[in-house]
Amino acid sequence: MVSRGELFRECQAALEQAGIDDARFDTLCIFQDCLGDRNPLFSPLEAVPLDAEAAICSMTERRIGGEPLQYILGQWEFYGYPFKVGAGVLIPRPDTETLVDSVIRLCRENGITSPKIADLCAGSGCIAVTLKKELPLAEVSAVELSQEALPYLRQNVAMNEAAVTVIEGDVLAETTAARLSGLDIVVSNPPYLTAEEMADLQTEVAREPEMALVGGDDGLGFYRTLTPLWRRSLRSGGYICYEFGMGQHDMIGNILAENGFENIKFTRDLGGIVRAVTAQRSEENNG
Ligand code: GLN
Repeated sequence: MVSRGELFRECQAALEQAGIDDARFDTLCIFQDCLGDRNPLFSPLEAVPLDAEAAICSMTERRIGGEPLQYILGQWEFYGYPFKVGAGVLIPRPDTETLVDSVIRLCRENGITSPKIADLCAGSGCIAVTLKKELPLAEVSAVELSQEALPYLRQNVAMNEAAVTVIEGDVLAETTAARLSGLDIVVSNPPYLTAEEMADLQTEVAREPEMALVGGDDGLGFYRTLTPLWRRSLRSGGYICYEFGMGQHDMIGNILAENGFENIKFTRDLGGIVRAVTAQRSEENNG
């Protein structure tokens, strides 16, 4: 039988040779998962059981084939909570924690203790579930259309014991928006990549659902439709909170202002990129 240390070196070298950026990190994650040990290299001479070796080798092969590490592991952490992921659902990204933080901050600053929230394009449910966990008195709905994503969303709601209402529907349709009213907060990380970005995706991102990524030619299609449509589901003075792509903030600010939103505030992600916005539905103009 092969030792942990020896197999680790082999797998890491194979990933490096395949051009995987974080070969050591990926190998460590695979070992942790297959051996059920957070520190698999504390005992490098320990023999790896044959079934674990087979599992490690098969995961390493999948990674060499360009599959995202998160899909291979089947679970990924977001804001300290676990989320099931796999082909058909967007992988939760650290950037999106910035959006969640901005919603939580908005609630704290404005003394909103039991907000009624709708998360549009909920995907894995990372935003909706995290908000429900962090704001336990909130009433949270998660809207998703994809038949591939919905099972993950439901599973993540259950696994995290978060009382989130899952709504199956198209966020771009009036009939869906009509199902929710008097909302304090609409939050969304809609698809926002441009046609140009879609043509040049990183190997791993190309394995993620196109439906969760592509936001029309200029990436702004969802914001143009969602903003006027869901404005009507917000209470007067309620907020809309979006994540968006690098460089889109000016255009997003314009879309919000044109649709009767004020107090438009942007937040940068940990990489320094302007990544999220919160904006308030003006009290006047109730149209
Ligand atoms: N942040 C994702 C990426 O750059 C895009 C997610 C989205 O379109 N909402 O791959």
